[in-house]
Amino acid sequence: MSEEIVVQITDLHKNYGDLEVLKGIDLTVRRGEKVVVLGPSGSGKSTMLRCINALEDADSGSIKVSGQEITDRKININKVREHLGMVFQRFNLWPHKTVLENVMLGQMVVSGKSKEEAEKRAHETLARVGLADKADQYPVRLSGGQQQRVAIARTLAMDPKVILFDEPTSALDPELVGEVLAVMKSLAEEGMTMIVVTHEITFAREVADRVIFMDGGVIVEQGSPEEVLVNPKEARTRAFLKRVL
Ligand code: ADP
Ligand code: MG
Repeated sequence: MSEEIVVQITDLHKNYGDLEVLKGIDLTVRRGEKVVVLGPSGSGKSTMLRCINALEDADSGSIKVSGQEITDRKININKVREHLGMVFQRFNLWPHKTVLENVMLGQMVVSGKSKEEAEKRAHETLARVGLADKADQYPVRLSGGQQQRVAIARTLAMDPKVILFDEPTSALDPELVGEVLAVMKSLAEEGMTMIVVTHEITFAREVADRVIFMDGGVIVEQGSPEEVLVNPKEARTRAFLKRVL
């Protein structure tokens, strides 16, 4: 793991009206680090990722991505987003575009690449997720697992510094979960920086450098998979693990 800090969150607070959703989050992620975030529904995991991606405005605190303060209104958020990949539970592919076009689009519209460049890169990343032969298909012809792998290829094509995954396998039929986790694992092995919200404890154990347990808008506990998953210190962590394991 490198010393270079890719994401640095300091005392992040976020409210929706009277509801305090994030109550002071501190998190530092270094280049190449794999962080898995666990926690019950409603604990603020998605909100934290959405703040990192500036899909939500923080109420207070600081979020730096590659040293750039994203809560600063003077910065160009689209520039910052070029370095941030995001993979959601729902893949949001364009139904009337082919798989190849889906992977090309962001590269051309957001990064301003030429059609030829975008196409070349799209073929590369589709091969990397094992879908080279699906380039000319429409998303509806693919399984959910394949569609999610297209979404990952689309993100990879942007050459992000970090990829944020928000429950990427939660919407999939159980038999399709493994192929998506396998792709994520291979990215991890190649050194991609990743923040992954998931309930897949086996994935956390095998892939995470660090596991974070969130509850009620705070990080309750964090450490190695061994520390958090096998020997949790906090009662709230133990209660959660008992429910999901
Ligand atoms: P998690 O991803 O851990 O399940 P979320 O970050 O989605 O949790 O939600 C945390 C809390 O914030 C929940 O109580 C949820 O209902 C609330 N919340 C999330 N998004 C909004 C929103 N856009 N408006 C109002 N409340 C929201
Ligand atoms: Mg969520």
